[in-house]
Amino acid sequence: MRALALLLPLALVQLAAVPEPPPPPPPAEAVPRLLTVYEWLRILPAPRSPEGFQPPGGQRVAWPLHGILTQPFGCTGFYREPSQTDCPNGFHAGIDLADPPGTPIRAAAPGLAYPIPDVERYGNHVVVQHVGGLATNYAHMSRMNVAWGQLVQAGDVIGFVGSTGNSTGPHLHFEVRYAGVPLDPILYLQGSPPDPFPLPPGWPGAQRDDWLGRR
Ligand SMILES: [Zn+2]
Repeated sequence: MRALALLLPLALVQLAAVPEPPPPPPPAEAVPRLLTVYEWLRILPAPRSPEGFQPPGGQRVAWPLHGILTQPFGCTGFYREPSQTDCPNGFHAGIDLADPPGTPIRAAAPGLAYPIPDVERYGNHVVVQHVGGLATNYAHMSRMNVAWGQLVQAGDVIGFVGSTGNSTGPHLHFEVRYAGVPLDPILYLQGSPPDPFPLPPGWPGAQRDDWLGRR
């Protein structure tokens, strides 16, 4: 009994020294997770490629609208753009075309369209998967005008100019990606796109044999 009386204060001191346990992490499904465009492009279905299809070297896209080019593709010093190995001060994955809010934005080529709401980076944006591994991305829309997976033709109005997401004023941020890799849209708009490289196996829009039966 005496020994217990001596030990009890020690035990209390020890208890008091134990730090508060950290709160349990929220369940995984409660954590908002923003898929990058690269990730979206890997999982969103693309139009079926004809048998033996190879992306043509001369593949081009139409202007989604006729705005003022305010920021070109590539390395930039603009503080809002994320940095990248080749561009330590920031990399701009598309071109910015300024236009008044509400200006219609048109699909640059036929494909399957996907509206993606986002308040952090691209804002409301529409991704269009084209045949052959090409995709276009239209960001910062005030309103999106397509259903999930809707077939669109070049020139269809897929949304309207806004300033949602990481944006300082109404404009369209327009990207052209091949196998997820952002390429200079101006080259495609002017009809001088780079030669396509082999698509990774399973990439939507790759040759049929590569992805048939994978989904
Ligand atoms: Zn931009």
